[in-house]
Amino acid sequence: MEKFVQSYVEFRNMLLSTLGAAAAEFPEDSIATLYAVMLRDTRDREIAQMRNGGAKPQVHPPETTPPVCAVHGVTMKWRSGTSKTSGKPYAFWSCPEKNPDGSYCDYKAPK
Ligand SMILES: [Zn+2]
Repeated sequence: MEKFVQSYVEFRNMLLSTLGAAAAEFPEDSIATLYAVMLRDTRDREIAQMRNGGAKPQVHPPETTPPVCAVHGVTMKWRSGTSKTSGKPYAFWSCPEKNPDGSYCDYKAPK
């Protein structure tokens, strides 16, 4: 059901036209039940969309083989999210290893 159905009457007309000859034997109660289910599904979908819209952006890794850190020789990890400090979204490959001084490896994968 692509189109959002505005009213019960509209839904009923659509359903009955879909049923064709069988429409005459289709109980009114069943139409009402189907309409309630359709409304619930629509509402659930809208809630899901709202939740998705409110969620932090997730950027999926590119469809390529993960790069390997030239310093440590390990497969790099895809990191994405929103910076707590700047509030800006980020998405990049990062080496999970640390340098001898304890800082994270800042090797950048070549584009
Ligand atoms: Zn590294």
